[in-house]
Amino acid sequence: MTAHPLFDIGGRTALVTGSSRGIGLALARGLAEAGCRVILNGRDGDRLAKAAAGLPGEVHTAVFDVTDGPSVTAGIAEAEERVGPLDILVNNAGMQLRAPLLEFADADWHRVLDTNLTSAFLVGREAARRMTERGHGKIVNICSLQSEVVRPGIAPYAATKGALKMLTKGMCADWGPYGVQVNGLGPGYIETELTRPLVEDEAFSTWVRGRTPAGRWGRTEDLVGGLLFLASPAADFVGGQILYVDGGMASVL
Ligand code: NDP
Repeated sequence: MTAHPLFDIGGRTALVTGSSRGIGLALARGLAEAGCRVILNGRDGDRLAKAAAGLPGEVHTAVFDVTDGPSVTAGIAEAEERVGPLDILVNNAGMQLRAPLLEFADADWHRVLDTNLTSAFLVGREAARRMTERGHGKIVNICSLQSEVVRPGIAPYAATKGALKMLTKGMCADWGPYGVQVNGLGPGYIETELTRPLVEDEAFSTWVRGRTPAGRWGRTEDLVGGLLFLASPAADFVGGQILYVDGGMASVL
């Protein structure tokens, strides 16, 4: 039995931002295993090279900071020249700072906003300039369960992810007419470096398992199927949607 041709993305070129570890690296691995030429991104060349060495197929790296406009422009131009035109962009780079809102520092607010939201605008705009000209492309923005709901201590993070949801819909409105389909993937609680303090907090960790119908924390590999769908021709008529992959958590009280 072979996979349906609608899910065939072999030979496509895909850039995943923030893919030196965690969710980004798992998504890059999934794309590589599906036959894509993959470009890993992050701020540390050595870390990226190590990550690339562990992936199958043709894997490249592009070192740039997604919050810095000129670096984004130069990084994408250089990557396209070296590897080829981008077919798929995954805006995954992100960070979380947890603190009560009354104690949240100005500089931290701007860091969270720049890393989680402005980055998607900068990288998405640069990729879409090229994709719209060529008349095709797929962009997937990594949103979050916190695009919809929030807990104490992460209001700035949730604000960026809520805004990223609307940016996804706006990108779809602007670029859909030029053949570029934009959607979001919304992970629930996934074990990574970002969530390590939460995983290590026994009470919180137990709460997550209890609140999730699947009865466990998510693994980074749990997100791959959703991404492959959104990046494939099977999703050509799906636009501006956020696909939540959260073990059912968002749906139950
Ligand atoms: P990690 O902290 O494990 O990884 C973050 C990645 O982003 C790293 O590869 C890091 O690379 C990169 N990165 C951070 N800042 C920049 C920057 N300025 N420029 C380039 N790369 C950058 O996080 P996760 O894997 O957990 O999260 C990935 C995404 O998924 C984020 O957007 C997060 O909000 C989202 N998400 C995560 C959830 C979870 O439960 N883990 C739940 C819902 C959403 P380097 O440091 O090498 O530059």
